Amino acid sequence: MLVAGHALATPAERFGLYVGGQWCQAADGRRIEVINPANEEVLASVPYGGQAEARRALEAAAAAGPGWRELTAYDRGALLRRAGELTRERCDEIALLMSLEEGKTLAGARAEVLQAAATLDWFAEEGKRVYGRIVPPSVGSKRLWVLHQPIGVVAAVTPWNFPIALQSRKLGAALAAGCTTVSRPASGTPLCTMAWFSCLHEAGFPPGVINLVAGPPDTVVGEFIDHPVCRKISFTGSTAVGKELLQRCAPQLKKLELELGGHAPVLVFPDVDVAAAAKECVVGKFRNMGQVCISPTRFYVHRSIREEFTAAVVAAVQQLKLGDPLTPGCEAGPLFERRNVESVERFVADAVAKGARVLAGGRRPPGFDRGYWYEPTVLDQIDRTMRLTCEEVFGPILPLLTFDTVDEVLAAANDTTYGLAAYVLTRDLSTAIRCAEGLEYGIIGLNDPVPATPQMPFGGMKESGLGREMGAEGIYEYLETKMVSVGL
Ligand code: NAD
Repeated sequence: MLVAGHALATPAERFGLYVGGQWCQAADGRRIEVINPANEEVLASVPYGGQAEARRALEAAAAAGPGWRELTAYDRGALLRRAGELTRERCDEIALLMSLEEGKTLAGARAEVLQAAATLDWFAEEGKRVYGRIVPPSVGSKRLWVLHQPIGVVAAVTPWNFPIALQSRKLGAALAAGCTTVSRPASGTPLCTMAWFSCLHEAGFPPGVINLVAGPPDTVVGEFIDHPVCRKISFTGSTAVGKELLQRCAPQLKKLELELGGHAPVLVFPDVDVAAAAKECVVGKFRNMGQVCISPTRFYVHRSIREEFTAAVVAAVQQLKLGDPLTPGCEAGPLFERRNVESVERFVADAVAKGARVLAGGRRPPGFDRGYWYEPTVLDQIDRTMRLTCEEVFGPILPLLTFDTVDEVLAAANDTTYGLAAYVLTRDLSTAIRCAEGLEYGIIGLNDPVPATPQMPFGGMKESGLGREMGAEGIYEYLETKMVSVGL
């Protein structure tokens, strides 16, 4: 199969739905076109299922459940490890497809695929550490046990911005725990997800243990919610949709894990190496063009270094290489969709109308007539009336604010409904500890612009979510805790 002139090793029939161990089409033949955001060309079309396919996938997962949970954690771990190896072997092809359909730089896409493989490795081992407990009884005639058992069929619903990494967090944990799964990729990024499922297929999971159904979110996810065999939905996406799902899951009290949006502050203290800190902030901000849930979105800079830091940030932004994400060395590609560009334009227009100053970017780049492009942008003279200080900005805007004291900046940083990630740049131990403890966020990057790794729990406080993925905590999201009280 050829995609944008690239010959693929993954067989053409595997770019389809995957149900009960078989690759298939939608029953009504429906397909959806996949668009390249760099030039708006159609890359390919893939089957687009609906309620019937979602139901078949759930039933296949339910049928495979008993056999899967009876395997030992060692057997399940061996399959996950094999899936990780195959993911690494196919990294280049999966990353190419991801870069083409999502707009991420090829280097960023490769890093994501390798992270997914590392996540599968992590959970291959974590399944072996679900110990349960024997608890001392208060009367001699009893024995007390705590058991952890798989929840059952789990649905994994993910957005387009990290199509493989986010699926790997859900499937790795669920499969290691002994659950079977149905996955729905975002409609705009099915190609890399299907190529990755080809690796999972070859790893040898028994039929029905993993399933993949592309299709409209309301019908496919609606069926996951409504069908009683589905015992849990693990959702990553926006806070608005997360709240909607919470309401839709309420009648059945269906378990729902939510990994939602963020609005990450960066606190830059005066003891840092200003040039290095500015560079780090620019790299962190423009990773995937700011379309990252933990992307820094408010930069609080200590007043004493404000001018030096601002100049260094602007210089670093102006040096970013914007262009075709497949070109080696490219640092900034297109945004994912036209509506993302329009959303960024509205945020900038609102801020400028209220007094913000554009120090870099602030427009669609000249010469990029096709595709969804916006220049990496730096704004200052920001105040809290501007929408970008309180609503999640999913794009390439770096707003600069100023602070004087630790107490003041902690209060400002926490003044949001979000609580996913926050960043602190300082070498001062006491400032670092005060910030790490005082920030109301689930993820703190202390002199670390990329605080995500399989062995650490990832998730948000407040309206950024419910639950944690990865780390030692992640697998327990897919396990029921049962107590057994035994009378002798
Ligand atoms: P979105 O909520 O619009 O969509 C997320 C997924 O849900 C997509 O697959 C989409 O097709 C589906 N969906 C959309 N509407 C739905 C509905 N009514 N019912 C069921 N499913 C529905 O989010 P998006 O714009 O695609 O993704 C960006 C958002 O995801 C941002 O808010 C970002 O912060 C968040 N995100 C969070 C994390 C995290 O780990 N916390 C990671 C990545 C992205």
